[in-house]
Amino acid sequence: MNIVLLGPPGVGKGTQAKILSTIYQIPQISTGDMLRSAVNAGTPLGLQAKAQMQAGGLVSDDVVIGLIRERLRAEDARNGFILDGFPRTVAQAETLDRMLAESQQQLDAVLHLTAPDEEIVRRLSGRALCTRCGAIFHQSSNPPRQAGVCDVCGDSVVRREDDSPEIIRERLRVYAQQTAPLVQYYAGRSGYASVSAVESPDSVQATLLRLLGRGRDG
Ligand code: AMP
Repeated sequence: MNIVLLGPPGVGKGTQAKILSTIYQIPQISTGDMLRSAVNAGTPLGLQAKAQMQAGGLVSDDVVIGLIRERLRAEDARNGFILDGFPRTVAQAETLDRMLAESQQQLDAVLHLTAPDEEIVRRLSGRALCTRCGAIFHQSSNPPRQAGVCDVCGDSVVRREDDSPEIIRERLRVYAQQTAPLVQYYAGRSGYASVSAVESPDSVQATLLRLLGRGRDG
């Protein structure tokens, strides 16, 4: 099952990707996570990406496409994958289609998660992540049992630097300008569905699974 999760920052792509990854036993591939690891490790690629990420802009298509090309070749992605945060531009989407076609593959589902901007801002403003396993928390709706400590692996739970009010506004602007056109790009295809992500993660998950089940049965 080859899945793309599309939608603005903070809409719940990461949360849903983790659940789907467990259910379908296919990897969650988050370009944001990959880039953050590169930044933390201080690799040349990380150094190149850091400034754009801190400012809430997009890292160049070439860099991100290079990362994805390599990641999709890995053994664990042979039976499928969940792309979370990629593609983010029409050029990335076109390259993805070409890459998949080269290996006689295609996307089975493009699930577009939506929520109003006020809800996105509320979620991102309270969001915190585990530095090791990536578990996602929210200071009011889903706080870790012990402040600052991950329920799943016990490592530290911290705010993301780019989850500050000013950068959140910029990320939403960039989304509207560069990523929202992907809705048009994918909308006519079989496997595309737009899903409101305002309800609880469990309810959104149930909707996604229903859509994917339908997709699989044809
Ligand atoms: P995310 O964790 O998906 O919110 O991504 C964090 C940041 O990484 C974004 O604000 C971008 O700067 C960068 N990034 C992640 N994925 C992409 C992508 N597909 N294209 C360009 N930049 C990306």
